[in-house]
Amino acid sequence: MPWIGTSSTGQFACVNASQRTLKALRIKRKGQPVFVLGHVLERKGQEATFEAFNDRLAVVKFSDECLVGYDPSELLLPTDIDEHGIPYFEIRSCQSCAMLFPLTMEECESDKEPERCSDCIG
Ligand SMILES: [Zn+2]
Repeated sequence: MPWIGTSSTGQFACVNASQRTLKALRIKRKGQPVFVLGHVLERKGQEATFEAFNDRLAVVKFSDECLVGYDPSELLLPTDIDEHGIPYFEIRSCQSCAMLFPLTMEECESDKEPERCSDCIG
């Protein structure tokens, strides 16, 4: 899957060591799958797709067509996207700060998953 994580080919991005949220993406494509954290409790933990920027908020669309604006750092990238475009999210809770963070494919497949988010490790 050489296209995973590259933005130049028009595909959507997945998590890697330096990009775990929408904020880290240089090119944010409409339709990019994301996992929503953030302030709207009934939406927390749901999957959505990125639509557009409205001021500094990233507007995402949920499966019920509802549009909500988020800080792009509250939108987690998928661990993997399969050949049918279905995103998979492996989300863990940091044992230091309790923030949710997504795993990379490599972390997922390794024997020892990280227990802390990159902010706490870093
Ligand atoms: Zn942490």
